[in-house]
Amino acid sequence: MNRYAVFGQPIAHSLSPRIHAAFGAQFGIAIDYRAIEAGRETFAATLEAFARDGGRGANVTLPLKEDAVVLCDALSDRARRCGSVNTLLREGERWAGDSTDGVGLLRDLARHGIDARGLRVLLLGAGGAARAAAFAFLDAGARELVVTNRTAARAQALAHVLGPPARTCAWDALRHQAAFDLVVNATSAGHAGDAFDWPLAAGATPAACYDLSYGKAARPFLAAARAAHARAMHDGLGMLVEQAAESFERWHGVRPETTPVHEQVRAVLDARG
Ligand code: NAP
Repeated sequence: MNRYAVFGQPIAHSLSPRIHAAFGAQFGIAIDYRAIEAGRETFAATLEAFARDGGRGANVTLPLKEDAVVLCDALSDRARRCGSVNTLLREGERWAGDSTDGVGLLRDLARHGIDARGLRVLLLGAGGAARAAAFAFLDAGARELVVTNRTAARAQALAHVLGPPARTCAWDALRHQAAFDLVVNATSAGHAGDAFDWPLAAGATPAACYDLSYGKAARPFLAAARAAHARAMHDGLGMLVEQAAESFERWHGVRPETTPVHEQVRAVLDARG
């Protein structure tokens, strides 16, 4: 049987095997999709063993998305642009890499009635997910994209590659910015569980706030968004489902229906508390 997997560390609680099983069930495909623990040191060897064992496709998550770029023999334009791979496809004896995070984010925002066209967007973070999000926002026609990051040099490098209408702003200087239409947290700060250091001006109420994280990791940012009276708040669980649908279509050539799967994974996450 063809095998599929998600690689990362930690990975035991990944929802991806459940999501892909649900997609497969829609088409009567029994999916062998597992979560495989691999760190940066072991990823290359683990992926090679997986390919020898019938591995036809894989997702890649923290902390391996940039390492995956190097292990690919071919890259999609969007993966090359954002320097990050979350989807691997076995083509003969080689791996092709794609990045479905950006389109997954846009599709989930659309589900929530948010179209980035013409919006003034603040992006927090400059890692792999932030880069995918940034390109997606510019492709979608955002009016302005302000990138800020704990390590300012990374935000500057990203804005330089993006070009206008992207620009950077120092984290602390955000206090002097007017309200944004959409604030997107693409940092991994929430995984530490600390309160979110909200950098917005008092009274600069954002229209919508979106955290790429979900579960406990999204709580600090969403709590800060609530305190700032944001009009809409969403976590990244929907993005997880939508990027998975995109990967599924690359591997199996059919597009799954995501609506019932959003409900299923939300119930699983809620049950975990
Ligand atoms: P990454 O490449 O490791 O980047 C992490 C980013 O977070 C960097 O910009 C880093 O800043 C910043 N950061 C880390 N700790 C921080 C702190 N305490 N305070 C402020 N900034 C901090 O990670 P990634 O792959 O981009 O992932 C980022 C987040 O997106 C993760 O939570 C991940 O789970 C989530 N994600 C979700 C989906 C989805 O489908 N929902 C998909 C992809 C990613 P420095 O540059 O200063 O280190």
